[in-house]
Amino acid sequence: MKPITIQSIRIYPVAMTLVEPLGTSFGKEPFKTATLIALHTTDGVIGWGEASSESRPGYSSETLGTALHVLSEFLVPALVGKTITSPTEVPALIRGVRGHPLAKHAVEAAVWDAVAKTNEMPLAALFSAHLPDGHESRGYASVGVSIGIQPTVEDTLAIIERRLNQGYERIKLKIKPGWDVELAAGVRAAYPDIVMMLDANSAYTLADAEHLKQLDRFNLLMIEQPLGYDDIYEHGKLQPQLKTPICLDESILSANDFRLALDLGACKILNLKPARVAGYTESLEVYKIAVENGIPLWIGGLLESGIGRSANLAFASLPGVNLPSDISATDRYFDPDITEPPFVLGENSTIATPTGPGIGVEVQMDRVAGAVEDLNRRYPYKFPPLGGLDDL
Ligand code: MG
Repeated sequence: MKPITIQSIRIYPVAMTLVEPLGTSFGKEPFKTATLIALHTTDGVIGWGEASSESRPGYSSETLGTALHVLSEFLVPALVGKTITSPTEVPALIRGVRGHPLAKHAVEAAVWDAVAKTNEMPLAALFSAHLPDGHESRGYASVGVSIGIQPTVEDTLAIIERRLNQGYERIKLKIKPGWDVELAAGVRAAYPDIVMMLDANSAYTLADAEHLKQLDRFNLLMIEQPLGYDDIYEHGKLQPQLKTPICLDESILSANDFRLALDLGACKILNLKPARVAGYTESLEVYKIAVENGIPLWIGGLLESGIGRSANLAFASLPGVNLPSDISATDRYFDPDITEPPFVLGENSTIATPTGPGIGVEVQMDRVAGAVEDLNRRYPYKFPPLGGLDDL
């Protein structure tokens, strides 16, 4: 493998306009923020990464502000000037920084992209090269779609119909107390056979076990993170009481957390978000544990731009990722996205993995510049781009 030497790293905080406003507990926001990383090598290759940090500490404790601080003050200085042969060397170089997985993932992903481009191979092939034989990319990722909390069951059914017509074959519904059994019953009555799962995003406690057992009769693929966002122990108490497999998301931040969850019987499925475990190096460790233990695995989404999504698609094309991932076609996300060409839903609810070197999509610099300006319009003077906008 040809090594890279990192000459500079630029940081672009952006706001991207969502096709559909994002419903969160803070209300509906018409845009999604992120921090984009452009890593320049001494050979003139540019590797891209993304910290999918939001303006508020909702899903993650990290925000746009913390990502900018930790990237500019600590992570970027730790990497500039370094020569790297395998991207799996990155975690050791930034070990001095605790926490901040989204920011760490951004710089590591940029290294993965730069190394893959330097060696003229697609990112999926570079991931495979770090796994035992037999884990070559399938060339596509199996995908599903996630539907947020709607005002009524009828509204939800209308969206499900639209998504099924578009070709998505796995439907995920967000639930919360008061919006769960009735919703699942209504959807099952209308669609007895669709592949359906629920995501609670930590909305319940162990005291709700009896209530959650009512969901067992709906033949669900899984229920995601019903209990605390940082809990593994109580999920281990809940899983034996449910027939429905529990899938952990928020509380698995490392391969070790995953091992603990398996030891405690806290989950039967894992939603792996590479950013949540601080990068693809740790994701590969999680992947190996899942394969060794026969645990179904899928890749979750954090509303990434085309930069983050194309890399996740490459990872989701590995054969151990054996359940549909939360990666939808481009027309579901941003108008416009910042990469070309768009990802299109193919046959059997799949998206093809890009075949070009690295992430395999072209970053549109004029759109990056527009997204930087958008952010500064929304938060004047707070988030200046670092490293210069000169060549945008
Ligand atoms: Mg989730």
